[in-house]
Amino acid sequence: MRTLLADHPLVMHKLSLLRDIATDTATFRTLTDELVTLLAYEATREVRVTDVTVQTPVGTAKGAKLAQPVPLIVPVLRAGIGMLDGMTRLLPMADVGFVGMVRDEESLVASTYANRLPADLTGREVFVLDPMLATGGTLATVIGMLGGRGAASVTAICLLAAPEGLRRIDKAFPDGGVLDVRVVTGAVDERLNDKGYIVPGLGDAGDRLFGAI
Ligand code: URA
Repeated sequence: MRTLLADHPLVMHKLSLLRDIATDTATFRTLTDELVTLLAYEATREVRVTDVTVQTPVGTAKGAKLAQPVPLIVPVLRAGIGMLDGMTRLLPMADVGFVGMVRDEESLVASTYANRLPADLTGREVFVLDPMLATGGTLATVIGMLGGRGAASVTAICLLAAPEGLRRIDKAFPDGGVLDVRVVTGAVDERLNDKGYIVPGLGDAGDRLFGAI
């Protein structure tokens, strides 16, 4: 697994506002949307393209367009939905699949409650959206599902990551393995607390995006 820390000043500025307990839901949604677009710019650096030639008003130019099959974006429900618009703004031609995962608050074990993914992902580049890489249990399960369907690469875009979660993903999907796995994140925080929350983190991302239910 490769990790890319996108510690751009604008990412750090927006993350600081996002973390603030005083930030209201509407602002939190807007900031998440903006942050995803910034992180997605870094995350798509290796996206596959094919060469094209275009006619300009004054000549011909060599360029590139996204290769086929187009990438697949997979937001992890529920909080990943808050990242979808920011990602599709940059990749409007991408397909979108969905995985729903819920974490047992006692055991911290994640289980799947929804799965709308293409059966065959052979050769596909996949971008997983999950704001918080905490224990890594959810992300490891989702990456495993995608790899099992033949995905060529999986890039997870996370607003924040905990060292524990990064270690778990690295152990499960070591660099040079069959599946090319990358994590792109805005910050690596200190640790997890005994409830599996990232410290200092930003609290429960789903609750802050959509309200506590
Ligand atoms: N999920 C969250 O929403 N926040 C955390 O800190 C950890 C997991």
